[in-house]
Amino acid sequence: MTENSPVLYIVIPCYNEEAVLPVTAPLFLEKLSALVNKGEISKESRVLFVDDGSSDGTWEIIKKLSEENSAFCGVSQSRNRGHQNALIAGLGEAAGRCDITITIDCDGQDDINAMDDMIAAYKDGCDVVYGVRKERKTDTFFKRWSAETFYKLINSLGGEVVFNHSDYRLMSSRAVEGLLSFKEVNLFLRGMVPLVGFKSTSVFYDRQERMAGKSHYPLAKMAAFALDGITSLSTKPIRFITILGALVSIISIIAIIWVFVIHSIGDTVWGWSSMVCAIFFMGGVQLFSIGVIGEYVGKIYLETKQRPRVILKDKTGFPEEND
Ligand code: UDP
Ligand code: MG
Repeated sequence: MTENSPVLYIVIPCYNEEAVLPVTAPLFLEKLSALVNKGEISKESRVLFVDDGSSDGTWEIIKKLSEENSAFCGVSQSRNRGHQNALIAGLGEAAGRCDITITIDCDGQDDINAMDDMIAAYKDGCDVVYGVRKERKTDTFFKRWSAETFYKLINSLGGEVVFNHSDYRLMSSRAVEGLLSFKEVNLFLRGMVPLVGFKSTSVFYDRQERMAGKSHYPLAKMAAFALDGITSLSTKPIRFITILGALVSIISIIAIIWVFVIHSIGDTVWGWSSMVCAIFFMGGVQLFSIGVIGEYVGKIYLETKQRPRVILKDKTGFPEEND
């Protein structure tokens, strides 16, 4: 490990990706070799696949790749735990073996050529380099709009999420160590990495269509992920409920005074519609509020169990196995 040719581990989560892995694995290898040949990184560098409990032939493909070429290695989760946990599994495995990690999806959507700029930024002294999409040409209007609204919302609630950055990023080994010291079970890495600190920057790239296979993040899963992100990073929604509760209470006091005045005048029958509206309105506000608080209670429940984020069942192609 030297300052100028650091050991790089490219960490790639894969879940049921047998269609795309044979297409993209050679591209990752080509990139790694080109970087080694240019002297940018050490020849100890590796491509590390994390099989996230796939039910198809993904792990067999990873094992075969690692047997054919020592630049490939892999770990396999004992079951499917989701993209974020797969990333933590890979980073945990890479930490201690390398100077830098780059996490990237295995479907070829993120431009691997941005890695050159990421490494250059690392050599300029950055510990974290975010890959940021230039524009979302390949997304539908709805996906673009909902994603942008999400970034704006989460940042206005006090989270620090880099606009248009997903999980394509370079991290130095000390930044990875920092991230691994966050022990939470509900993972939202793009909100957690900025909290690790250190100097960071962004590099920009065009995001492509998936090379094969299909997305694991349909709308409902994206919405759940966004909600998870907000509730992991911010407790401001609970504060809003308190403020809303206070406002509604003040309005109610005014309304009660008004009711007494009307009553003393003796004209009380015509108030039925306004009363029904008030009941519905208050019912809605209360249910919504209980729901928001419930989200946090649920998070506390899951966190207090301290279940493991990673359980591995197999490993392949690591340097020490070949000794
Ligand atoms: N992935 C994973 N576990 C899962 C779902 C997805 O490891 O439970 C991986 C998947 O193989 C891919 C990355 O996470 O490398 C991003 O998934 P996908 O491309 O389906 O999401 P999208 O790019 O459509 O948001
Ligand atoms: Mg994808």
